[in-house]
Amino acid sequence: MYDGYKSLMICNSLCASVAKSIMIPVKEARDIVLSQVPILGTEKVDLFSALGRVLAENIAAPYNVPPHDNSAMDGYAVRTEDVRNASRDLPEVLDVLEDLPAGYVSQHRLEARQAIRIMTGASIPEGANAVIRVEDTERAEGNRVRIFKAVPPRYDIRVAGEDIRKGEVILQKGTVFRPAEVGLLASLGKSFAQVYQRVQVAILATGDELVEPDEPLQPGKIINSNSYALAALVLETGAIPIQLGIARDSQADLEAKFSAGLRADMMISSGGVSVGDYDLVKDILNQSGAAMEFWQVCMKPGKPLAFGSISGKPTFGLPGNPVSSMVSYEIFVRPALLKMMGHARIYRAVISATMEEELKKTDARKHFMRVTLHQENGKYLASTTGAQGSGILSSMAKANGLAVIDEARMVVKAGEEVPVMMLDQSFGMSNDRDF
Ligand code: AMP
Ligand code: MG
Repeated sequence: MYDGYKSLMICNSLCASVAKSIMIPVKEARDIVLSQVPILGTEKVDLFSALGRVLAENIAAPYNVPPHDNSAMDGYAVRTEDVRNASRDLPEVLDVLEDLPAGYVSQHRLEARQAIRIMTGASIPEGANAVIRVEDTERAEGNRVRIFKAVPPRYDIRVAGEDIRKGEVILQKGTVFRPAEVGLLASLGKSFAQVYQRVQVAILATGDELVEPDEPLQPGKIINSNSYALAALVLETGAIPIQLGIARDSQADLEAKFSAGLRADMMISSGGVSVGDYDLVKDILNQSGAAMEFWQVCMKPGKPLAFGSISGKPTFGLPGNPVSSMVSYEIFVRPALLKMMGHARIYRAVISATMEEELKKTDARKHFMRVTLHQENGKYLASTTGAQGSGILSSMAKANGLAVIDEARMVVKAGEEVPVMMLDQSFGMSNDRDF
């Protein structure tokens, strides 16, 4: 049976008690999101701004790196046949023609029994075919040098093109710039790169109860934390957050704020997507000029989640509870943004860990549980970080991963393995969809 259909059946049969409308499985919802979002255009940036960006062109080397044979050591450029029998006890004595610092080219051609004092990085003079390190030599009277060591040809010479050959495609389209790639491109004489654009993401909080962090907290009010957490997530993803502020729970205010967001490439709201009388965000997605692709996903936290488009701009109505909005961001928004910005690895790394305690589910949705991982004897152990309510942001702050408990798995016994989606950047990203 088709996999997506199977999980849909599990989801909607097992979740029947909580489902007021059809919930779609996480996998299917994510496929819909990814099929709907466009890959953005490209722009030219200077190399100092390239870190984390995705290269939008193949880069071929315009010349060899290094461009010429040069010395790998401070020492003496010699002809190997002149020092064939050199040793500590019986050194060869050569005439020193000149001192050659890095950045200069010798005008001399080395003849028999001649040497040139050479510094690291300086071009190998004509006629020389090896370098003797300074510690294997001793300066002698009358501008001469005693050589204590015999070496084979090319010894301590960095050969032209040994790093990069002229014409070689050295950076492929799709490469993510790390410091090494930035340096590599600079070494090819390029100070600009063509990269995918960063997505501009408009962020909107919704709710009559919300105040901003600096405002007095009147009775009945709560602080808008979602706009801040979501902006931080957007920045961490490499995209650009644009704050639209707070929309009150009225059709008019929501319409005004969403239309202000149309200048961005994507809109994310939080709150107002549940089944309450004041949950109006999904109505916005059902208006003309908009399209709602789905509402309600078979997951916990994060069941109420509307996705669609307004005037062609991908729009996420994320749930209002702070943990739900962050988890939904991780599952749906982060991969979508990464795809839009040209990334191939759009999923968080998922690793297998041993659960240290028993987990029991109360419904058959796919659960994402906040856990912290540590390593013991080369294995990862996971334990929950505290209460798992969708408003408990402190347990999210303590977590470095989300344990993924599939729809049909109702109990995880202590000692059993669970997949854990890592929230910790150091685990990197993957192009392998693992749950
Ligand atoms: P809602 O779906 O709009 O009913 O929101 C669900 C819960 O999340 C409510 O308890 C809201 O007060 C809370 N909430 C909604 N938006 C925010 C926000 N921006 N920051 C913090 N909590 C929020
Ligand atoms: Mg609300």
